[in-house]
Amino acid sequence: MGMFDRVWIPCPRCGQPREFQSKGGECVLADYYWPDAPVAVLRDIAFDTGWCALCRQPFEVPPLPVTCNESLDECIRRIVREELMRR
Ligand SMILES: [Zn+2]
Repeated sequence: MGMFDRVWIPCPRCGQPREFQSKGGECVLADYYWPDAPVAVLRDIAFDTGWCALCRQPFEVPPLPVTCNESLDECIRRIVREELMRR
């Protein structure tokens, strides 16, 4: 049976978290909450798509930043912050 980790990412429209399964990293059925997950885990689900079970909004896993002077964690946090402020 395949093992994976789960990353929960909030729907950009209604905020309902949706599960994305990652085969990156340790795959121990761990639950992570975007963007607090190991890079290997996030990398595996980058650009995966799904839709919200609640409002049916289709959405895509935000891409990992590649050019950034901050640490990856700081960078992802900033991007999420900026995303939230745009709404
Ligand atoms: Zn939704």
